[in-house]
Amino acid sequence: MQDCLQDKCGIVGIYSYEESVDVASWIYSGLYTLQHRGQESAGISVLKEGRINTHVGMGLVSDVFDKDLIDILNGNVGIGHVRYSTTGESLVENCQPFVEHKDDIIIAFAHNGDFVNSKLLRDELLESGFDFKSTTDSEVICHLIIDEYNKTKDAIIAIQNTCQRLIGSYSFVTVINGVLYAVRDPLGMKPLSIGRSDDFVVIASESVAFDSLDIAYERTIEPGEILEIKDGVETSHKMPTPGHTANCMFEYLYFARPDSIIFDKSVYEVRLNIGERLAKEYPIEADVVIAVPDSSIPATLAYARASGIPYAEGLIKNRYVGRTFIMPTQKDRDTAVKLKMNTVSSVLKDKRVIVIDDSVVRGTTSRTIIKMIREAGAKEVHLLIGCPEIISPCYYGIAMATKEELLAVDRTNEEIRDIIGVDSVGYISMEGLVESIGTPREDLCLGCITEEYPTIIPPELYKDEE
Ligand code: SF4
Repeated sequence: MQDCLQDKCGIVGIYSYEESVDVASWIYSGLYTLQHRGQESAGISVLKEGRINTHVGMGLVSDVFDKDLIDILNGNVGIGHVRYSTTGESLVENCQPFVEHKDDIIIAFAHNGDFVNSKLLRDELLESGFDFKSTTDSEVICHLIIDEYNKTKDAIIAIQNTCQRLIGSYSFVTVINGVLYAVRDPLGMKPLSIGRSDDFVVIASESVAFDSLDIAYERTIEPGEILEIKDGVETSHKMPTPGHTANCMFEYLYFARPDSIIFDKSVYEVRLNIGERLAKEYPIEADVVIAVPDSSIPATLAYARASGIPYAEGLIKNRYVGRTFIMPTQKDRDTAVKLKMNTVSSVLKDKRVIVIDDSVVRGTTSRTIIKMIREAGAKEVHLLIGCPEIISPCYYGIAMATKEELLAVDRTNEEIRDIIGVDSVGYISMEGLVESIGTPREDLCLGCITEEYPTIIPPELYKDEE
């Protein structure tokens, strides 16, 4: 029934300058704050006296780890991962970190993103005799690094040579022969930041991980940067970059937590800007403005402030619902949405209601929510969306839909309005979105709304969509 977008993963890497300090509990806390980036599996690897100890499992961070497990994962350097599968199935073999010991290299590896030439590279590695334990593209990167390292005996060159072959989005943390590395792709598509205290360096997908550890945010890892932390000394190496970035705009709209800083910007501020912009682009006469919780709440507050229309909580999210099964009928799917969301009829009854959502993908969830709002007695319902029409899939690690399933493909605004069942529907303009983010258009990935991707997309991937 999934109409929502799913990101692939969240990653954490921690280095303690004090060798006697164990970092597993800190990685656990960091992963806990990144749980929204992946709920299928979690894993932690720590380095102790040249050995890597790892535990991975299916489920939430709190399901996979308990205090006893954390206590036996000793070591002052480590990495962690939470996963949602976009390539590779939901299997324990696909959990990360991956750990490998081959010839001269011991490596633990955790990755966020997707690269579009993974099949080609995987086939090449299979031909060279590499065995794959998993079906993920992350293991492809791990094997490429191993291959390059065993040729060059230099981890930086091995990472550089590997990255040169990858086309797409990737941020990763890895421990190679006792040294921690944090790497971001040359287009900077996925977020990765560094925070610091006197005793620790923390690398994480989002800055919320630093807040939970009382660590100060320092900066984003630069596109194309390889940060090396070895024997307490940090060195930053740079790979060639194309001279512009391609930050995923959906990280701001939906994936990242509103209290995070990503790409050196506050997610909350961007969402406020979107709400203000929607108020300018769509001045509507209404009695109340409500959010589809949670990611749309800042934009809705800003819309209310700018328009003078009162904000209220007309939809309440059940925060204790886990994953729901794939539902065979529309009635079952409606029931699943109702398990996750309920209306407050006193807010909605006899009112002209503006509903703000962060994005609409297939439109199936929106239709059910609008039906619920009408059943609660709303007189008029106007839907405003903080993302322009999604017209093309994502090939960089966001589970979206095939082109045919996307609501906005080949449909007029009136047709969309009728399908969702609202009195009016308004998408933020492209210009409005870009200005709300505050990053030049050429430095954003807008592929799913423009069909212009920042990398080549192999034809077989387009074909798979047919
Ligand atoms: S195609 Fe869309 S979802 Fe995918 S990386 Fe680009 S902006 Fe993000």
